[in-house]
Amino acid sequence: MGIMGDSYDEECDYLFKAVLIGDSAVGKSNLLSRFAKDEFRLDSKPTIGVEFAYRNIRVADKLIKAQVWDTAGQERFRAITSSYYRGALGALLVYDITRRATFENVGKWLKELREFGNSDIVVILVGNKSDLVNSRQVGEEEGKKLAEKQGLCFMETSALENKNVEEAFLEMINKIHGITSQKIL
Ligand code: GDP
Repeated sequence: MGIMGDSYDEECDYLFKAVLIGDSAVGKSNLLSRFAKDEFRLDSKPTIGVEFAYRNIRVADKLIKAQVWDTAGQERFRAITSSYYRGALGALLVYDITRRATFENVGKWLKELREFGNSDIVVILVGNKSDLVNSRQVGEEEGKKLAEKQGLCFMETSALENKNVEEAFLEMINKIHGITSQKIL
C-alpha cells in the first residue's frame, strides 16, 4: 500500500482518502478525534495546512484504511485548494446546529466540492452539536430536506457525547466501499 507515502504499514486491501469540510468551529477536529480512538495516529502536513488521521476498518471481508483529512483551522484564512480534495472518495460536510450561518454556508462548501472533488465523491451532511438542544437554530428536518435535495446522506451527531459519530464515518466508508468494489468488479 502506501499510496500516500505513509509509513503505517499494516496490510490492508484498500486505502481511502476522505475529507472533513465545513465552517470553522463546527466540530470537525472533535469529530475526527472521536473517530480516531486509540487506533488513530494524528499527523500533519503543516506546509499545506492539513492534519490527517488513519483508522483501519473491516468492511465485509476487506480491511480498509481510512485516511481522513482535516483543515487544521485553515478554512478561516483561505479557500481550501484542490490538493485538499485530490483523490478524496468521501467527505463529511459539517455544520453546527446551533449556528444557522454554518448551515447556510453548506451550499458554498458543496460548490467547492463539486469544483475540486471527484464527481462521484460520497458526501454525508452532518449537523453536529446535537447535544445543545436549547441553542438549536437548525431543525433536524431542515438538514434532512437539504440533504435529500442535494442527494446526500444526512446525520446529526454530537462529538461531545460521542453520538452518531462512528455511524457517520462508517456510513461514508461503507458507501465508498460499495462504489469502489463495483468499479473493481
Ligand atoms: P473545527 O474548527 O470545525 O475543527 O471545530 P472544533 O472541533 O475545534 O470544535 C469547535 C468548538 O465546538 C470547540 O469548543 C468544541 O469543544 C466544540 N464542540 C465540538 N463538537 C461539539 C459537540 O458535539 N457538542 C458541543 N456541545 N460542543 C462541541
